[in-house]
Amino acid sequence: MAIRTWLAGMAVDVGVVDTLRRHWARRLGDPAAYILFGHGVSRARGKGLCVEALAEMLEYLGRVFEVRSLQECVEALARQTRLRRPLLALTFDDGYADNLYHLLPVLQAHGTPATIFVTAGLIDSKQRLWPSEVRRCLAQTQAAELRVSFLPEPVAISGTDDRAALAAKVVSLMKRAPIRQAEAVAELRQALDVAEEPAGEEERLLTQEELQELARDPLITIGGHTMLHPVLSSLPHKEACQEIEQGRQRLTEITGQRPMLFAYPNGQPGDYTAEIVQFLRDTGWQAAVTTQAGVATAASDVMQLPRLPIGQGPAARLAWALAKATRAQANILR
Ligand SMILES: [Zn+2]
Repeated sequence: MAIRTWLAGMAVDVGVVDTLRRHWARRLGDPAAYILFGHGVSRARGKGLCVEALAEMLEYLGRVFEVRSLQECVEALARQTRLRRPLLALTFDDGYADNLYHLLPVLQAHGTPATIFVTAGLIDSKQRLWPSEVRRCLAQTQAAELRVSFLPEPVAISGTDDRAALAAKVVSLMKRAPIRQAEAVAELRQALDVAEEPAGEEERLLTQEELQELARDPLITIGGHTMLHPVLSSLPHKEACQEIEQGRQRLTEITGQRPMLFAYPNGQPGDYTAEIVQFLRDTGWQAAVTTQAGVATAASDVMQLPRLPIGQGPAARLAWALAKATRAQANILR
């Protein structure tokens, strides 16, 4: 039986998995910081990360890791502080309204800090993030094909049963197009003849008041995530810098605190440039996180810290994912 199957079926007794992870982690050196990322948090099971699964994972993480704020983890890595247990920080991207109503109460119950990276230009807008809008339009359209100026050739829709897979394909094509994706969505909506529709309660982003309430909680740090979530490398450098700066300004105006932590939209290596990393350094950001998988160590570039998805639970699956990521990194170091 594959170890994975065995572990997946196992209850939350994750002692064995943690022993394996600690074994592999010895190669990474001390200190190491596991930075986890999620997005929205739902109340009920079945749709992404739910409060019940999150609570179980936080209980496990609190037993095994030194769970700190991202800022504290960054400082500990810089000072090479040695700790009895590995560091771990939680982060949530995009600024979903459910972070206030569903995530915060669970964090408070466990005394767990988290950083929330907010897409500042969408606050109060009732607009979806552009990839969600692409998914909605492709799910609803009656059009036979998608023909837009920013894609080299029309994309066939009729005869495609799996609209979600089609949307994923269009989103990935748009990520690589030299466009402002959030603006291109209007052309796509028109081409597909789908009416505008405000985001529903489950998918909407924070309002100003909700963001202020979140930011007031001592467990929460608000970080920058641009204005409209563009793939930064698809923009001229100056516009990419404006996206970062304007997002920071807007968050500062709303919360009264200047964000010092940044998350690259999409966050894969090709999604930002070396010049953008330098711009963040020059404008005084303390650290920036990617979505490249890995465990942060004292050797990591603080402006390109790797992260790992928190997943959807149960805790045993997360424990195994963290062990696997540790092993993968240890093998690279070998
Ligand atoms: Zn994002």
